[in-house]
Amino acid sequence: MRILVVEDDAGIAAGLRANLQQRGHAVDACGTLGAAWAALRSEAFDLVLLDLGLPDGDGGDLLRRIRQSQAGDGLPDRLMPVLIMTARDQVADRISGLDLGADDYLVKPFDLDELQARMRALLRRSAGRAQPLLVHGDLVLDPAAHSVLRAGQAVELTPREFALLQLLLQSRGRVLSRQQLESRLYNWQDAVGSNAVEVHVHHVRRKLGDGLIQTVRGVGYFIPRDDQL
Ligand code: CA
Repeated sequence: MRILVVEDDAGIAAGLRANLQQRGHAVDACGTLGAAWAALRSEAFDLVLLDLGLPDGDGGDLLRRIRQSQAGDGLPDRLMPVLIMTARDQVADRISGLDLGADDYLVKPFDLDELQARMRALLRRSAGRAQPLLVHGDLVLDPAAHSVLRAGQAVELTPREFALLQLLLQSRGRVLSRQQLESRLYNWQDAVGSNAVEVHVHHVRRKLGDGLIQTVRGVGYFIPRDDQL
């Protein structure tokens, strides 16, 4: 998943980035509202982790702009999940954040495992699922355990291979272009080789068989829905 971290404390931002990248997420971090708004206008993010106290204003203002934006005019997806991270433990701040359109909040300092669990819940909900596991035939992907089972046997995938498989399973039946996959697997600082996505697809096929991920030449990749098999 592509995650935007909006946090002006460089230490916290670096810790979050390292933790999320280890989980296979592509992470971009911004320390100001201005930089965050520019990032949101240029990339599609799956989730935003938003600090409230920022040097050029209040994170709540960014949240309001996101929720008021309109589809099709180059503004961020107004339905994108936003989790507020704040040191403010005042009940009023949490209420106003939720009322502005935040989906969840954590009070700093928070536990990174709890953050991961809350992110999984938000991503699940935004993908329209209640079921935590992604099941496809005899394949089971567990986002919480970060594990993949094929016919009951564990399959070892790298974090990016895992992220690629998760994206394709979540969008089952829909073709994702190489560019769409690239933008969800890599942040701006990653040096992306021109065939990076193909290489990951190749490795996943080697580990899980050729029949799973289908290629649409010149368009992209997809995993068929059960009724398309
Ligand atoms: Ca801050």
